[in-house]
Amino acid sequence: MRPTGKLHLGHYHGVLANWLALQDDYECFFFIADWHALTTDYANPSGIKENALQMVIDWMSVGIDPLKSTIFRQSDVKEHAELLVLLGMITPLPWLERNPTYKEQLQEIRDKDLHTYGFLGYPVLQTADIIIYKANKVPVGIDQAPHVELSREITRRFNNFYGEVFPEPETLLTSSPKVLGTDGRKMSKSYNNSIFLSDPPAEVEKKMLGMVTDTARKRRTDPGNPEVCPLYLTFHVLYSDEKTRAWVKEGCTTAGIGCTECKRSVIPKVLATLEPIQKRRAELEADPGAVKTILDKGAEKAAGAASSTMAEVRKAMGLK
Ligand code: SF4
Repeated sequence: MRPTGKLHLGHYHGVLANWLALQDDYECFFFIADWHALTTDYANPSGIKENALQMVIDWMSVGIDPLKSTIFRQSDVKEHAELLVLLGMITPLPWLERNPTYKEQLQEIRDKDLHTYGFLGYPVLQTADIIIYKANKVPVGIDQAPHVELSREITRRFNNFYGEVFPEPETLLTSSPKVLGTDGRKMSKSYNNSIFLSDPPAEVEKKMLGMVTDTARKRRTDPGNPEVCPLYLTFHVLYSDEKTRAWVKEGCTTAGIGCTECKRSVIPKVLATLEPIQKRRAELEADPGAVKTILDKGAEKAAGAASSTMAEVRKAMGLK
């Protein structure tokens, strides 16, 4: 995950909930992709270090467990860079140029000059990140699947040239429920519509009470439609039991309940989810040395695995 700073409920339900389940069944490597952050933020990298720290505190606060999973910072394991150089030698330029995300972001991100070698080549770095651990599964949402496909193609090309060093990584499709922000758009830090895992209860309550609902329901006496209401589609769907949802549907469509009452029925459930997460965050914040130790140990473990892969790679490529 790129170091985006404090995480919100969109990250929690879309990514971290999957990681939590995966860490019980698989040997997992989770890393802070700080070199990837530089592909777009190279001109102003001042936030990367703090964002990385806040993000990893959120991971651990929700239960990503360093005793079960390897948690580390990409830039601490230099072997990723060595493999990037070597994969760069064999990756055809058109494969990168036709990458839909590359083209899309060049169009969308106008405030940064992304016509760089690093930005074009980020799928090669991603491939190095994956295959250096001989990972066979990459947990991603459907929108990320083309990236894994590109990694598979690069891996296949490597194996064709130099022998079967790497397993071809497979997509492990994870479900990402739609989490809408307070303005009804997808929850995203850049839209300023997010409820953060670290928001104090009063802030969460304020944000939820101010959240957009069915916009056609202008007055308390107008009936509404939960199926087009962002508050319902995100919070009742994710947090309420069937009985509450039936109560909302009945009350909303008949104007029997108001939006404030409806929101207040789900706020306690969101707060109850956040409470243990925030308790854990406070403990971690009080002990920054512990976070550092976890990242150092994670890097050591990751580097052990990465360096043994690189020994094989160098040999296969006739370098040593
Ligand atoms: Fe949405 Fe609830 Fe208001 Fe209906 S009553 S529009 S579901 S907030």
